[in-house]
Amino acid sequence: MNSNEIDIHKELKKYFGFNQFKGLQEQVIKSIVDKNNTFVIMPTGGGKSLCYQLPALIQEGTAIVVSPLIALMKNQVDAIRSLSSENGIAHVLNSSLTKTEINQVKKDISDGKTKLLYVAPESLTKEEYVEFLKNVPISFVAIDEAHCISEWGHDFRPEYRNLRTIIKHLGEVPVIGLTATATPKVQEDILKNLDMPDANAFKASFNRPNLFYEVRTKTKNIEADIIRFIKQHKGKSGIIYCLSRKKVEEIAQVLQVNGISAVAYHAGLDAKTRAKHQDMFLMEDVEVVVATIAFGMGIDKPDVRFVIHHDIPKSLESYYQETGRAGRDGGEGHCLAYYSYKDVEKLEKFMAGKPVAEQEIGFALLQEVVAYAETSMSRRKFLLHYFGEEFDSENGEGADMDDNVRNPKVKVEAKENVKKLLEVVRDTKH
Ligand code: ADP
Ligand code: MG
Repeated sequence: MNSNEIDIHKELKKYFGFNQFKGLQEQVIKSIVDKNNTFVIMPTGGGKSLCYQLPALIQEGTAIVVSPLIALMKNQVDAIRSLSSENGIAHVLNSSLTKTEINQVKKDISDGKTKLLYVAPESLTKEEYVEFLKNVPISFVAIDEAHCISEWGHDFRPEYRNLRTIIKHLGEVPVIGLTATATPKVQEDILKNLDMPDANAFKASFNRPNLFYEVRTKTKNIEADIIRFIKQHKGKSGIIYCLSRKKVEEIAQVLQVNGISAVAYHAGLDAKTRAKHQDMFLMEDVEVVVATIAFGMGIDKPDVRFVIHHDIPKSLESYYQETGRAGRDGGEGHCLAYYSYKDVEKLEKFMAGKPVAEQEIGFALLQEVVAYAETSMSRRKFLLHYFGEEFDSENGEGADMDDNVRNPKVKVEAKENVKKLLEVVRDTKH
């Protein structure tokens, strides 16, 4: 069966109830159905899951989906099961299953019932599972969050490095890598590591035209500045990211004292409090959540109107991910970062205890954040360039949506003028 022989629009409607594909989904799905190695780069929320779920559902055999988070796998399996009357259509294979459960999974796969098998990368290294999977028809292997392969990604997982070897044991099966990390370095790592230089690559644009990017110098008046900003956005939802739990607590309190409804969120709070605070934010019982980066994964509040970085993030990928939580509905999204070189030094100190290779990568990523904060060019152009994307800062979508474009930095030019003046002075002296 190839992609010309099936009506994938009809299948989309049948399984998912959607009338059309989002972005590059159709091309990606055709590439997979035609048994090509395929590489998909789409921002978070772009619709990557459907890219492998639909081909899995309509093809012979079982698709193996490697995913790093058990919670996410469970969600996806539940979602797929809800589309079908056959419970065995999707399964998770992991170490928490009982012997009986494992046998049921194996039986459903052997009976051809299971279209999607989600596995954690460490489970896939298990001899017993590999032996079993070698002897059943596999449609393809999808590797979600494929950036976990790369040390340059924001979530490196050594187990991901062994995937290629294991997949080779399964025989000739197409491999699909998917990620929301767009830096050329990470992409190169993924293709190299999965040994698929021939892959059909599909990359969606990372431009978020409705987000406004701004960087302000961090001074001791930062708290007053943040309060003023929030009061200008009265009644709107926003997230404030801080580096430390202590800072999170501090800022949340300062806001509360100043009549802003805010809650704190960080990994030091117990699960019940975290869940409560998250719900309060989602239900709009509070306007602002002050959080460490522990907050945000899988949170889909469409009308977040601002994301403030009290401290600079450790990489531009993190910055893009975190600011990306603003304006999901296409409406206004103001992304404000406070920058001081002292914070850079603080982050560098944090890294000092880590292995040398990790430190080097950490420093390099941080330097990019510094360059972004200090640039006088279009911030959107800078960010997109970092992701390997050319942006037309004259006519591109959202071209005027940042502080540098709206208010070009005269200060920098003034400095240039002073420099020139000094040169003239020096020249005349000689
Ligand atoms: P990603 O993994 O790229 O972050 P997801 O696969 O989680 O994105 O999809 C994000 C959202 O988009 C989901 O709610 C999904 O149901 C929705 N979605 C995906 N494809 C379509 C489509 N063709 N039409 C409408 N909604 C879609
Ligand atoms: Mg995803």
